[in-house]
Order: sequence, then structure tokens, then C-alpha cells
Amino acid sequence: MNAALAAVAFAPGLAVGSFVNVVAARLPLRRSVVHPRSACMSCGSELAWYDNVPLLSYALLRGRCRSCGVRISLLYPAVELATALLVVGCFVRFGLSGRAVVAAFFCVVLVAISAIDLIHRIIPNRIVVPAAALVLVAQTALRPSPEWALASLGAALFLFVAALAYPAGMGMGDVKLALLMGAALGRSVSVAMMAGMLAALVPSLYLLARHGGAARKMAIPFGPFLALGSVVALFAGGSLLHAYWVLFGH
Ligand SMILES: [Zn+2]
Repeated sequence: MNAALAAVAFAPGLAVGSFVNVVAARLPLRRSVVHPRSACMSCGSELAWYDNVPLLSYALLRGRCRSCGVRISLLYPAVELATALLVVGCFVRFGLSGRAVVAAFFCVVLVAISAIDLIHRIIPNRIVVPAAALVLVAQTALRPSPEWALASLGAALFLFVAALAYPAGMGMGDVKLALLMGAALGRSVSVAMMAGMLAALVPSLYLLARHGGAARKMAIPFGPFLALGSVVALFAGGSLLHAYWVLFGH
């Protein structure tokens, strides 16, 4: 049953991932996401449908534009694959349910926000604010509890204080992302925060080792790490919280 669901969800997941690429490239520039057709960022030639097939076209073109041969960023196929795998993962983990739909939507938004933060170094309000509101309403309707609203506000407040203390590392975009994370994850948002910060330590320590004191001024985009932590919390948050209480709660 779940294997069949996974197989069925993968192709639409790739298609959604392809759309996420369009959104990530155009939305921060305030360009339409439906028009015109996708074109090479370098030479401007429009992509034929067969050069716009998720994953496959990138592999067949060996990562280069057919017209001008410029390198196509590996981020495109990575976004497509990550989106598809996460959507599949949500339906395998939560079955054919409203919960799976909300989780899949959350994951797609996380991939879009990560891609945009990596490319443009912003987390756009026009994605994160409506997504947070939508997820909060859906979660509260599906599993009525104040947990979702409280986790949302708590997580945002936590990052707001962090942003005040360390303005170079975190921005208000991350605070709004925390609103979305809390609404989607409930109490597991604490796991997401912890995992995200631990993951962000790796490149921070690398920069510090490589550039010394100058690394303090090199801000790394924090959004993708919060997104990574969110995925960990979404799929394993319950068991990680439980393990934590078993180890330290008594
Ligand atoms: Zn080109």
C-alpha cells in the first residue's frame, strides 16, 4: 500500500519541485511564475518541453544549456529531487490523510524557502506568512489544540530574541519561518530548532577554521538549516522528544 503510494506520489512531487524552481527564481524578482516559459538565465533562449523535464533533462544535457552551453546550477535538480522525496516521505509516513497533505505542503514550502534563501539571501514574506497562516488553520482544524498556535508563537519569540542578540546571523525572515515551523510541528518544533542550530554549526566552524576572526562577518543563510531541522523534527520529532525525556526528564 505504502510502496504504491510512494510510486504514485513521486512524479507529481517532481512536477511540484520543478514549479518550486520557477518560484525560487522569479518570485523574489517580482516576476510572474506562470508567464513567460522558462528560459536559459544566460542566453535567454526558451526551453523546449523536453529540456524542462525534471531530473531527466538535467542528466541528458549533462547540466549545460543546449543553446549556449552555460552550466546549469545543480540546485535545480536538487530542488526537484528533494521536493519529490519529501512529498513521497510524507505520504509514506502519515498515510493518505489530511496530516500527510499538510506535512507535504510544509515540506514544499521549506524547499522553496531554502532555495530562495540560498540564491537571494532572503525569506520572502509573500511565501512564509500565508503559509504559516494556512498551516496553523489546517493543523488546528485537523487536530484541535492550542499546541499549534503556542508552538508557533513560542518558536518565533525564541528566534526573535536570538536575532536581537546576534543580528548578523539571523533575520526577521527566520523569525517568520519559525512561525510556520511551530504551526506545522507543534511541540516538536524544539527538536527542529535544536537540529537546525547543530547543523548550522558545521559550516560556521568550517568558516571559523578557514578564515579565523573574519568569519564572524560572513553570515551564512540560516533558513536552509532551519528547514533541515524541520524535516528531522517532522519525521522523527516524536521519537527524539521521547528519547530526550527518557534520558533527561527524570
Ligand atoms: Zn543558454
